[in-house]
Amino acid sequence: QTQTGQAGGQSLTVATEPAFPPFESQGAGGELEGFDIDLMNAIGEAADLNIQFQSLPFDGIVPALQAGQVDAAISAMTITPERQQTVDFSRPYFKAGLAIAVRENNTDIQGFDDLKNRRIAVQIGTTGANQAKNLEGATISTFDSAPLALQELANGNVDAVINDAPVTLYAIESGNLQGLKVVGQLVTEEYYGIALPRNSPNLERVNQGLTEIKNNGTYAEIYQKWFGV
Ligand code: GLN
Repeated sequence: QTQTGQAGGQSLTVATEPAFPPFESQGAGGELEGFDIDLMNAIGEAADLNIQFQSLPFDGIVPALQAGQVDAAISAMTITPERQQTVDFSRPYFKAGLAIAVRENNTDIQGFDDLKNRRIAVQIGTTGANQAKNLEGATISTFDSAPLALQELANGNVDAVINDAPVTLYAIESGNLQGLKVVGQLVTEEYYGIALPRNSPNLERVNQGLTEIKNNGTYAEIYQKWFGV
């Protein structure tokens, strides 16, 4: 599925996995919406790039960039040393981190160390899934999307979910999922970046667009729209 932003300029095909609200999701009519969608369209406007979104599974995004099937990706993707071995990233555009979610009535799990020997749900290919691998004795269930992992927790089939804090908090606060809470400190501090194929000629333009919308107040407006109180 592709979706076209504003007209004009060179076109840039941008991959996203649209089940990660409030960063990217699909509205009632299937249209893409979210912080990342607004941000990428604003960067396109600033940098005269015609943004065309393409939905992909999260674990298919880096391979698609490597194969040159898409020009960029915005998908709440953490800048990690592993990913930097195969793709390039823009300047960081958002500070996030991983949080642990449990059911509201759970009092045993207070932090990361309490997750040993537990049943954990994660989204495939994510930094949360990577952290879960470090847990001794834990049983890991992997899901294609974060909402599915959180639903498994709400259903009582696992003890905890390790997922990006802003997304888990949004799911709880928006009432999309009931009976869940976040416990403990953030497991990690992470920064999201827009990913591009290695040595992409578009990297500099994307960075310039990002700098421009940070300086002219557009970034702050988009932030307020999705995260404002
Ligand atoms: N930030 C996490 C990662 O990069 C999760 C991203 C996502 O699921 N869209 O792995």
